Amino acid sequence: MISQQHRLPIQTPGTIREVISYHYGPDNTGRKVYIQGSLHADELPGMLVAHCLREQLAQLEEAGELASEIVVVPVCNPIGLSQFLLHAPIGRFDFSRGENFNRHYPDLFEAVKARVRGKLGTDAKINAQHIREAIRAELVLTPASSELAGLRKTLLSLAFDADIVLDLHCDSEAVMHLYTLTPLWSRVEPLARLLQARATLLATESGDSPFDEACSQIWWRLQEAFGPDTPVELGCTSVTVELRGARDINLEMARNDARAIIDYLRVTGHVHGVVTALPPLAADATPLAGSATLSAPISGVLAFVKAPGELVAVQDVVAQVIDPLTGQTADIVSHTSGVMYARDARSFVTQGTDVCKVAGRVPFRHGRLLSA
Ligand SMILES: [Zn+2]
Repeated sequence: MISQQHRLPIQTPGTIREVISYHYGPDNTGRKVYIQGSLHADELPGMLVAHCLREQLAQLEEAGELASEIVVVPVCNPIGLSQFLLHAPIGRFDFSRGENFNRHYPDLFEAVKARVRGKLGTDAKINAQHIREAIRAELVLTPASSELAGLRKTLLSLAFDADIVLDLHCDSEAVMHLYTLTPLWSRVEPLARLLQARATLLATESGDSPFDEACSQIWWRLQEAFGPDTPVELGCTSVTVELRGARDINLEMARNDARAIIDYLRVTGHVHGVVTALPPLAADATPLAGSATLSAPISGVLAFVKAPGELVAVQDVVAQVIDPLTGQTADIVSHTSGVMYARDARSFVTQGTDVCKVAGRVPFRHGRLLSA
C-alpha cells in the first residue's frame, strides 16, 4: 500500500486541506478500482465501510490476492467534514457557495469527443485508451478556481480511469439502495445481490452531474455519438451506494458490507478467488424517473406509518402530519406502488418538505431527478 496526499487550493491564508488516497495492489495491470467514502461529509457509514475495506485489502495485498490497483479514499470531502453550524454537522452543501458536494462535476463530453474524433478505430480496447488519455488531458486543463472546484477536480482525477467506481453514501433513514446508469445494470446486478440492495434506481441522465455519473456517463454518450463502426465500451462501471441511514453506524455491519464489496471485486476479477454462489436479488432495478418523492401537505409533527423497506401500494397512507395548534391531521398518501426506500429523520416538517421516497416501476418524472 502506498498513500498519496492531494492538496486542495488554499481558500484562506493559513489553512491547508488535502485528500488522502490509499493505493493497494499492482498499479501496472491497466485495471483499477476506485472507492470513496462520505462525499456528503455527514453521511458516515461510507467512511466506516472504507475503513473496513482498508483492513481487508491490507490482508489481501499481503496474501497476493489483488489483481488490480484498488484505491480507497475514506475521507473524500475534508471541506464538508469541517463544517458545523450550531453544533450540528453540515456536510451536504458547501458553506461558501451553497452547492451540493455531489453535483456539478465537470462535463467533459464535448471536449473529449473533439479530442478523440479521427483517432478511434475498430478496436474497442485501443479506443478506450484514446478516450482515457483525452479525459486525462481535459482534467489537467479543468480550472480549480476554488477549494470546492479543486476537490471536484481531485476526486474525478483519481477516479476517471477506474474500471469500477463506488461512491459510498447514505440517506437519512433508509434501506440499502443503489444509483447507477441504466446501461450498467447487468454489471451492477451482482453488487446489488451481494449488498442485498432493496432498490436500485436507474437513469441515463439524473441532472446536475453527480459524481458517479460524471465517471460513467461520458462513455455511454461517446458510444451513442460514434456508433458501432468505432466501438466504444462502457469503460467505467460507476455506482452510488447508499449504505442505509445516517444512524446505521455499526462496525459489524460495516465489515459485512466491506466483505460484500470485496466479493463484488472477486466477481469482476479485481481480486483473485471465486464467489461460488451469489445471493438472490432482493429487489429488481426500477427507473429513477419512477421514484416518487412524497411531501408534507401542511406543517406540523411528522408521524410515519410506514418504515423504510416496507412495500406501499397506491393510496396507502405512509405518514401523517399533525398541526398541534389547529388539531388538523393530514395524510401523506402514496401515488405509486413500490418499496419506500428512504425517509426523512426529522420529526417536524414545514409544508412542502420532502419526507420519503418510493421506488415505483413506471417512469413519470422529467428533468432533474435527484433531490437537492
Ligand atoms: Zn449522499
